[in-house]
Amino acid sequence: MTESTPLAELPVVIIGAGPVGLAAATHVVARDMEPLIFEAGSRPAAAVSQWGHIGLFSPWKYNIDQAARALLDPTGWVEPNGDYLPTGAELVAEYLAPLAATPQLSNTIRTQTRVIAVSRVGKDRTRTPGRGDTPFLVRTQNVQGEIEDHRARAVIDTSGTWESPNPLGQAGLPAIGEPAAREAGLVTSPLPDVLGRDRAQFAGRHALVVGAGHSAANTLLALGELREAEPSTRISWAIRGTDPASVYGGGDQDGLPARGALGTRLRNLVEAGAIEVHTSTTITELRIAAQTNSDFSTTSATDIPSALTITGTTSAGAASLDADLVVPTTGFRPDLSFLREIRLDLDSIVEAPTGLGPLIDPEHHSCGTVAPHGARLLSHPEKDFYIAGMKSYGRAPTFLMATGYEQVRSIVAAIAGDQAAADKVELVLPETGVCSADIGSSCDVPSAASVADDDGGCCGPAPVGEAEPAAEGSGCCGSTPQPVTLGIPTGLEHGRGAHQDAR
Ligand SMILES: Cc1cc2nc3c(=O)[nH]c(=O)nc-3n(C[C@H](O)[C@H](O)[C@H](O)COP(=O)(O)OP(=O)(O)OC[C@H]3O[C@@H](n4cnc5c(N)ncnc54)[C@H](O)[C@@H]3O)c2cc1C
Repeated sequence: MTESTPLAELPVVIIGAGPVGLAAATHVVARDMEPLIFEAGSRPAAAVSQWGHIGLFSPWKYNIDQAARALLDPTGWVEPNGDYLPTGAELVAEYLAPLAATPQLSNTIRTQTRVIAVSRVGKDRTRTPGRGDTPFLVRTQNVQGEIEDHRARAVIDTSGTWESPNPLGQAGLPAIGEPAAREAGLVTSPLPDVLGRDRAQFAGRHALVVGAGHSAANTLLALGELREAEPSTRISWAIRGTDPASVYGGGDQDGLPARGALGTRLRNLVEAGAIEVHTSTTITELRIAAQTNSDFSTTSATDIPSALTITGTTSAGAASLDADLVVPTTGFRPDLSFLREIRLDLDSIVEAPTGLGPLIDPEHHSCGTVAPHGARLLSHPEKDFYIAGMKSYGRAPTFLMATGYEQVRSIVAAIAGDQAAADKVELVLPETGVCSADIGSSCDVPSAASVADDDGGCCGPAPVGEAEPAAEGSGCCGSTPQPVTLGIPTGLEHGRGAHQDAR
C-alpha cells in the first residue's frame, strides 16, 4: 500500500475485534474488500473475555452473525445449540475465537494495537473541499509504544464501551479522589470474577457495590456465595434510590423463572443480613488509606483499618463508610476522544447517532426493543465513517449483538456502494422484538402472547431509519408492565422517567 494507492483499494479499518467488529470484517470480506482490524487487547474479543464468567441472556441463535456462519461452516466448526445460553467465555471459545482464526480474518487482525486517533489525510475537521474522497488516516499505538499511521477507505468504530465505565460520583463526574482510587486498583472492573480469577481480591475483605442494575445483582450474588465459604467477607451495597425492591423483580410471580429466582436470591441475602444496603446514597468522595472504619454514619467507628473511606450524601446528611474495594456497576459511556477530528452527528443526550438516540434514551425506554437499523440511521456528516455495535448506543445500556450484526451488514453494503442492500433492513431479530432476563420488567416489549404469535404484536418493532420509526413504548403497549423476554434492560419499567426515585 503506497501513498498513491487509489481510495477504493485501501482497507476498511475496523476499530475493535469484539463480536460486532469481527462480524463487520466478515461482511467486508464477503464484499471482496479488505478489512484491517485493530484490537487493543492481547487477543480478539478482549472485552467479552473480561466478563467471560457472566452468563448471557440471549441464546446462541441470536449471537451468531450470518456472514460469520458462512465463513465458519467450511472449517468444520460445530455450531452450538441455538437455544443454549452461553457464558461470555463460551461465546469467545466456541464462536469468536474460531471466527478470528479463519484464514480470511486471521491475517487482518492486529492485536495489542490501540487506535488513538482518526482523521482524514492532510485535513483536520475544518477542511471541507474534497474531504469525502480523501483517505482516512488512522493512528495506532502498540504495546511497545510504537505509533503508526494507516490509510483507509472507510472506518467502522466498533470499540465498544467496556473500557469507559461511568464514574462513581454524582452528576456524571468522578467523585473527588476517584481517579486516584482507580489508579490504586481500589475501584475494580465493573464485573469482577468474584468466584474465580479475582477471588483473592475479595475473600475476607469488605466490598462496596455501587449501582442498581443487572451487573450489581450478579456481583452481589457472587459475593454472597463467596461469603458462605469465607464468612469474614463483608458486602455493602449503595444505591441512589430509596428501596432496592425494584432490583428484585417479581419473585415467584415473575414471568421468567430464572429472572425471578435471581431477584429472590438477592432479596434473601439482603433480608438475611448478608448484604448491608445503603439507600439514597450518592458517592461524593473516595479517600485512600483510611485510619478508622465507619458505617455510612458518623457514630459507629471501629479501629480496623480499611483501604478506602467512601463519603456520600444520604437522606440523613453526609456520611462515610470504610471498605477495601469498590465495585462500580454504574454503566458505561462511549470514548469519543480519539474521534476529535471526525465530523460526528450525535444525540446530545445519549451520545448515539442523532436518529437513534431518542429511540434508546434510558429516560424513556427500559429495554432493547429498538428495531434493526442500518447505515442511514448510523451515518455521520463524515462520509464512510460509522460507529456500530455497543458504542453506537452511546450511554444507553440496552444494546444487543444481533442488532449490531444487522448494523454492520448494512454499513458494509453502503461502503461497497450497494445502497439498495444497505437500505433493505433484514430482520435478524424476531419481529416481535427482543428483550429478556433482566431483573426488572418492561412494557416496552411485547407480551409473551405476542412473542408466541410471531406477528410482531402491537409492540413489535419495525425497521427504523430506513423505514418508519419504531413506536417503542407507545400505542397498544398500554401501561401494564409485561415480562421481558430478551435484551439488556435498564432495570426500570418504562425507563428512568417513570421512576424518579430509582438508581
Ligand atoms: C456483562 C454483559 C453481558 C452482556 N450480555 C449480552 C447478551 O446476553 N446478549 C447480547 O446480545 N448482548 C449482550 N451484551 C451487550 C453487547 O452485545 C456486548 O457487550 C458485546 O460484546 C458488544 O460487542 P461490540 O463488538 O460492540 O463491543 P465489545 O465486545 O466491547 O468489543 C470492543 C472491542 O474493541 C476493543 N477496543 C476498545 N477500544 C479500542 C481502541 N481504541 N482501539 C482498538 N481496539 C479497541 C476492545 O478491546 C474490545 O475487544 C452484554 C454486555 C455485557 C457487558
